[in-house]
Amino acid sequence: MLHPVPASTRAKSRHASEGLVIFGGTGDLALRMLFPSLYFLEDEGLLPPDLRIIGTARSDLEDAAFAAQVKSAVQTRAGDDFSDETWARFAPRLRYAAVDVQDAAAFSRLGEVLEARRAIFYLSTSPALFGAVCQNLQVAGLVRDDSRVVVEKPIGRDLKSCQAINDTLASIFTEDRIFRVDHYLGKEAVQNLLALRFANTLFEPLWNKASIDHVQITVAETVGVEGRWSYYDDYGALRDMVQNHLLQLLSLVAMEPPASLDPDSVRNEKIKVLQSLRPITGRDVERNTARGQYIAGVADGRSAPGYADESGGDSSETETFVALLAHVDNWRWAGTPFYLRTGKRLPARSSEIVIQFREVPHSIFGGVDLMANRLTIRLQPEEEISLALMNKTPSLEHNGMTLKPLSLNLSLSHAFKDERPRRIAYERLLLEVLHDNQTLFVRRDEQETAWRWIDAIRHGWDHKSTKPSPYPAGTWGPSSAFALIERHAHSWCE
Ligand code: NAD
Repeated sequence: MLHPVPASTRAKSRHASEGLVIFGGTGDLALRMLFPSLYFLEDEGLLPPDLRIIGTARSDLEDAAFAAQVKSAVQTRAGDDFSDETWARFAPRLRYAAVDVQDAAAFSRLGEVLEARRAIFYLSTSPALFGAVCQNLQVAGLVRDDSRVVVEKPIGRDLKSCQAINDTLASIFTEDRIFRVDHYLGKEAVQNLLALRFANTLFEPLWNKASIDHVQITVAETVGVEGRWSYYDDYGALRDMVQNHLLQLLSLVAMEPPASLDPDSVRNEKIKVLQSLRPITGRDVERNTARGQYIAGVADGRSAPGYADESGGDSSETETFVALLAHVDNWRWAGTPFYLRTGKRLPARSSEIVIQFREVPHSIFGGVDLMANRLTIRLQPEEEISLALMNKTPSLEHNGMTLKPLSLNLSLSHAFKDERPRRIAYERLLLEVLHDNQTLFVRRDEQETAWRWIDAIRHGWDHKSTKPSPYPAGTWGPSSAFALIERHAHSWCE
């Protein structure tokens, strides 16, 4: 657990029967992530003993047929870690209720299966259905003071639509009962960022503009949009990735030490970072942003179609790549560039945060090139932390020293061999929901502040006649992304 659960909450989870209702229970997210995560929590004995898990979707399914779907999905995910014994404990929790969320009458069926349990409603459906779900839950009398709701991104496609969804949620649930998921916050390496910064004295005195030259945050995917073209085309990389994942990572890197790990202490500090982001407007939109769209190329050793080819012929100006220069205008960071970039069909699947320290103020090593220290926090494919340091090459030169940068590597999978590698981020998130802990969930003001910043960039793009620049699949984005960073005498770490 992220932090000790208050005694009152522990008591509640021990005594009240709970029901986790997954709307969209036959969908991709539920079958690929949510049910396998719940299964793994069962495996580790972390589910409340009386928790009932209810899948809902439109199709008519018997409980047994639904359980068979879930089992197959869990087996696919768990592979050799699948245990018949764990499944035998998990399966009896599962129920299915056919509910078309647009049909108010259908919710009585859900009430019957829930049997007056304290409910967690997980909305794993399109946000277009959130309003109908909330309204019909209320009409059916299924929302109690202690009910909670979990919502998935995207919460809107701009500030206005985000506010509308948040208003709907707020009309039924209080903010302390709303859990907005950004699954990056469930990743071990992201939580480890808090440990790295605040459980060690080493970095904090250096964690500022005096010692850090710049920060890079990259989330690179090798996949294209594939079957999700119609969803993606409405969003693009800025809305789909930067508004949530990249800005969350930036907030955790740049925030002040929170007073404690409790939800509001952490989220109060994160929002101050978002509020300090300098708006990118006017000429800065051109100078400080780059956007691209992949064209046919070679990715993962195979020829890959371009974005427009995947649409079935429609042309589109949606960006599949974005790079940004952001400034956090506060005392700690004034003048320190934060470079963000994300894209599809890039050469590697990797997510990492690079903290680039400044160069030594004076070198005593003659003409030897000294590489400035660099701390890399890798989130995927492997979770690891490395610190690049200059070292002497062992040798007997009589004429000065030969130096070489070497890495101090902390591989989390090696250091914690007994832990199951590659945990699903949703395991942590579902556990935190069950324990009523919102630290790893996004508060309304955080989300809306992020949208305000993103909207300004979008607005700037919409007023330019420029389009996303093409980049071949399998490359690191358009040349404008390189120009953006090189203009400040920096380069992307690859
Ligand atoms: P999906 O299309 O695979 O599944 C949608 C589910 O909703 C299905 O079970 C479908 O039966 C159900 N549904 C649709 N209309 C319904 C109705 N009228 N009444 C009742 N049920 C209905 O979608 P998904 O990929 O599972 O995504 C679900 C949500 O999670 C979306 O908001 C998506 O943006 C978000 N999300 C998905 C992923 C992912 O990896 N799939 C990642 C992040 C966020």
